[in-house]
Amino acid sequence: MGDNSVEKIHCLIIGSGPAGYTAAVYAARANMKPVLYQGIQPGGQLTITTEVENYPGYPNGVQGPDMMVDFEKQAARMGADIRFGLATKVDFSQQPYKVWIDEEKLLEADAVIIATGASAKWLGLESEQRLNGFGVSACAVCDGFFFRGKEVAIIGAGDTAAEEALYLSKLCTTVHMLVRKEQMRASKVMQDRVLKTANIKVYWNSEADEVLGENKVEALRIKNNKSGDTTTIPVSGFFVAIGHQPNSDIFKEWIDMDDAGYIKTIAGTSKTNVEGVFAAGDVQDKIYRQAVTAAGSGCMAALDAERYLSAKGI
Ligand code: NDP
Repeated sequence: MGDNSVEKIHCLIIGSGPAGYTAAVYAARANMKPVLYQGIQPGGQLTITTEVENYPGYPNGVQGPDMMVDFEKQAARMGADIRFGLATKVDFSQQPYKVWIDEEKLLEADAVIIATGASAKWLGLESEQRLNGFGVSACAVCDGFFFRGKEVAIIGAGDTAAEEALYLSKLCTTVHMLVRKEQMRASKVMQDRVLKTANIKVYWNSEADEVLGENKVEALRIKNNKSGDTTTIPVSGFFVAIGHQPNSDIFKEWIDMDDAGYIKTIAGTSKTNVEGVFAAGDVQDKIYRQAVTAAGSGCMAALDAERYLSAKGI
């Protein structure tokens, strides 16, 4: 059944967003023979976004998925070994470090770069979980298509929620947007776009009380957190856009993290508390979270790993 042999890897990169691929480009050019495992979402979060206008070097903007294909091609052209597979367990107790892929294949790596990114957060309602995939979604770009010509709701007030509400407004008749405070957190330009869009209806001080429907979403019960009043709006889709959590669970036993699970790195470096293990991108960054900052930190991780391996003479 499984592959029982142990594969030795000089520089292992876990994750395939801008951080992982940039680390792979630098590591490959430094002759570190990097092997990159892509995880369950090759290309990472940018594959579920649309237009990226703020990545330098693309004067006309670029579609997120296309950009990640470019990143992958560049890493492959430099000689990185890019593989499909998910790191499911690690043992960083001694060198070389052990990493299991898809629960069966065992790797032993001299240096490890963690670039596993972050994933969407959920509200935690039972109905949200039950109807996930049946009208509840955390990705408008992936699932908006199924709600063409229908009414949908979205919750969240950051840039992601604003971007997704605008995306949905082009497909759906009405987008009901729930904002739990009196103001949005999204950047001014995104807020303005939302507020100027005729078919986005913003509900201030409003939270999701329950998603209604047996086998598919039929309505959303919302609660005004000032008055306590509830209202039910008929919708076919409900999009959750309330932020992200770092994909760091498998490292918990070994790597220092903050309370939210973001990996701690030594300031100004990509070094973690474990020698030879580095972290880059959204898994260690809750502040900037941009493709370009993730890419920059991926570069740092590859340079740090190169210096570490040279100093060790391995
Ligand atoms: P954020 O953390 O910025 O925003 C999350 C939003 O969800 C907040 O408005 C928050 O409300 C709300 N929220 C959280 N929990 C709940 C809850 N239980 N019920 C209701 N609402 C809730 O996440 P984003 O994903 O929007 O953005 C992450 C980062 O990525 C940001 O730095 C953002 O600027 C950036 N980004 C940039 C883009 C671009 O430049 N084009 C596009 C997308 C994201 P509250 O405000 O009340 O806390």
